[in-house]
Amino acid sequence: MTTPTRESHQPSDMAAGIEIPGFRGECIYSGLPAYDEARAVWNGTVDRRPRVIARCTDTGDVAAAVCFARDRDLEIAVRGGGHNVAGTAVCDDGIVIDLSAMRAVSVDRVGRVAHVQGGALWGDVDHETQVHGLATPGGIVSHTGVGGLTLGGGIGWLMRKHGLAVDNLLEAEVVTAEGAVIRTSADEHPDLFWALRGGGGNFGVVTSFRFALHPVGPTVLAGPVFWAAADTADVLRFYRDIVADAPDELGTIVRLGTIPPLPVVGEDLHYRPAIAVASCFAGPVGDGERAVRALREFGTPLVDLVGPTSYVDHQSGMDDTVPHGWHYYWKATDLAGLSDDVIDVVVEYAYRARSPRSYAAMFHLGGAVARVAPDATAYPGRDAEHHATVGAAEAAWAREFFDALQPNRAGVYVNFLDADDDDRRVREAYGDRTYRTLAGVKQKYDPDNVFHHNKNIQPGRSP
Ligand SMILES: Cc1cc2nc3c(=O)[nH]c(=O)nc-3n(C[C@H](O)[C@H](O)[C@H](O)COP(=O)(O)OP(=O)(O)OC[C@H]3O[C@@H](n4cnc5c(N)ncnc54)[C@H](O)[C@@H]3O)c2cc1C
Repeated sequence: MTTPTRESHQPSDMAAGIEIPGFRGECIYSGLPAYDEARAVWNGTVDRRPRVIARCTDTGDVAAAVCFARDRDLEIAVRGGGHNVAGTAVCDDGIVIDLSAMRAVSVDRVGRVAHVQGGALWGDVDHETQVHGLATPGGIVSHTGVGGLTLGGGIGWLMRKHGLAVDNLLEAEVVTAEGAVIRTSADEHPDLFWALRGGGGNFGVVTSFRFALHPVGPTVLAGPVFWAAADTADVLRFYRDIVADAPDELGTIVRLGTIPPLPVVGEDLHYRPAIAVASCFAGPVGDGERAVRALREFGTPLVDLVGPTSYVDHQSGMDDTVPHGWHYYWKATDLAGLSDDVIDVVVEYAYRARSPRSYAAMFHLGGAVARVAPDATAYPGRDAEHHATVGAAEAAWAREFFDALQPNRAGVYVNFLDADDDDRRVREAYGDRTYRTLAGVKQKYDPDNVFHHNKNIQPGRSP
């Protein structure tokens, strides 16, 4: 057995009676001061106690941890940014393959490619790529992990112009269930590469990603406009018409809830029930001004925070509204469109939540997302117009809202599924055809379902 090279880890490793051969990272066990922080994830309702958290420093550590877990039949969870609302990044009693120390990002400015380690957060990527005035489509909160978000699809401000995160993925390095390290791209293991682009963490541990970069910013026109909750129906109908013809550069998200107590908002407006349409224009600021003018002039906004801003600041502008450790519960669905029926449901339910922390959000899709063929990647929801999530501090309200949307539902984004969303909802997320193809790839790369602490694809025969 290999002795861990970092002496400081030996006593606790020995005390726990576990040594991971060939592992050079940090092993964190119950009883160590770091244990509680290391097992905590973004959603404070998740309270799991792994036997060991293997904080990896490199691909070799990940391979060592996978082999170790397999040899002992240990449950495996993989932690990227720890943001998944269902808490799949941690498990009880097993091993967490923790990538949080693997956050390096490097940029090839000329080739317009970013090389990103598997535990990086989107803030790490934006920080490094924006130095060169470049960006790749990621999420809208900078403390979300690249790993989980990308493997599920990856929606955000830039997607209508530049596609989903998976549409910009060029290559990935993967540690398989066998502990082998392989590269995958359109040319190498193309079946695996297809499955990684939407199929989640089912096929191995991704230790690094290569993403295509695009010129963005560094200054973009962005920000939210808030209207009183009473104006919701009118705003949504107007919004529906505006976004139907919006240029690809215009990314928008509707947020229904209360106005967050942001320093830039007057205190008299804090926690006031309101609808917000937030925008980010991935093009020249002047063009952005023109694209959002009608929206900004609609009705009587309570506050208009749209303006030229640094892309990095915009990407982290919502971070404080969804901090780590609060208790969250989500219900999610895709919507084929914003019909009058949907708007009626939204008006009726959106403001019934008791907690000011509760909100609903709707991402506008289309553009480059819809132009990729549905079977080109394992992300199937390309024809949905909007992804909706109800992010709640009170589960009952989220469920009622979701149930009321039932007649208008059209699939779901796998990354928005919560812990009580069962196998049926995973199948709903992929649809039969994509699910069956994923099951075939799973059978080839992980026939024993070693990686099952996730939104699981059961190994099966290819169609
Ligand atoms: C506040 C907030 C904002 C969000 N905003 C967006 C958004 O704008 N767009 C969007 O698309 N989604 C968004 N999401 C959803 C997000 O995509 C998922 O929560 C995603 O799982 C987060 O990835 P993570 O690495 O942080 O998660 P983790 O909890 O660390 O991982 C979730 C699962 O992903 C897998 N995984 C993670 N990293 C790896 C890896 N390197 N290799 C193999 N498997 C891995 C594992 O199966 C793991 O169980 C948001 C979530 C939150 C909480």
